[in-house]
Amino acid sequence: MNAVTVRVPAKVNLQFAVGARGADGFHDLVTVFQAVSLYDEVSVTPADMLQVSVTGDSRIGAPAVPCDPTNLAARAAIALAAYTGRAPTVSIRIRKHIPVAGGMAGGSADAAATLVACDLLWETGCSRAELSAIAADLGSDVPFMLHGGTAVGRGRGHLLEPMVSSGPFHWVIAGTNRGLLTVDVYGAHSRFRAAARGRVAALPDGPTDGLRDALVTGDPKALAAEMYTDLQATALRLRPQLGRLLDFGVEQGALRGLISGTGPSCAFLVASADEARRLQGRLETFEGCTRALTVYGPVGGIEVVASPVKEVCQR
Ligand code: ATP
Repeated sequence: MNAVTVRVPAKVNLQFAVGARGADGFHDLVTVFQAVSLYDEVSVTPADMLQVSVTGDSRIGAPAVPCDPTNLAARAAIALAAYTGRAPTVSIRIRKHIPVAGGMAGGSADAAATLVACDLLWETGCSRAELSAIAADLGSDVPFMLHGGTAVGRGRGHLLEPMVSSGPFHWVIAGTNRGLLTVDVYGAHSRFRAAARGRVAALPDGPTDGLRDALVTGDPKALAAEMYTDLQATALRLRPQLGRLLDFGVEQGALRGLISGTGPSCAFLVASADEARRLQGRLETFEGCTRALTVYGPVGGIEVVASPVKEVCQR
């Protein structure tokens, strides 16, 4: 069977500055993404019609993912098919490991993976720039999921500047079984700020110099000192339990804990792989914590696992 299978990593955000909302309804962002070693796998095969199936554990919310054209992977196939003038007749099989509605860009990752997989299956000959443009139309995080590594995201998060990063940095990702929708977090963030008559602070030009240095030297303590997100206070107001989880992680030895993206996944930076395993065990004892995973980053972007196409061009 002509199947193309790719795997795609999740992301955490090391810095996340949120500016004013533009006329297009999106907030201006300056964020730093890091791809981490937690992967969804996406397979595409030719079919008579567009089909989507999703498998994965209920603890990461996989059963809640739609298997219809609203699935971001299906939207990616439809977009690439439209761009290249063909029908999106493909069967998409998603094996989910990235927590759903977890602030780790799982849906965006699947969209990026489907773009690459369909591009190979259909041998479209699209350039990397063309795929990136289609990715940006699909969602703000999709372009980064195509590239991986560590990068600054500006605009809606879709204008990328790769960053030099050594590593590996070790993380424990912990979460509860209730997701948080991105749209709800941004909505609450705007409301809380308006109620506090808070002025929207000017967006920084980019990441702090300290963050750039910490990434280059691979120093986790220095990186921990530079991590921040403007959305933390909002997420903790929506889910006070997350604040207790973050405090617990730091008491148990994490260098720093932050919500990832719009949450509710909490990303704990630790000093070593051994520390990560130790903290994972401790977090699993925290009431309401339904999962704790050890990962490292940065990792590369989409990787082709299986393809019938002889000349696989790694993107
Ligand atoms: P982000 O960090 O990009 O804001 P997220 O990681 O918080 O996103 P997702 O896992 O992408 O959240 O899911 C957000 C919503 O998108 C969910 O309500 C989910 O049902 C829907 N969705 C559509 N397609 C997918 C997919 N392939 N995987 C996961 N969720 C999907």
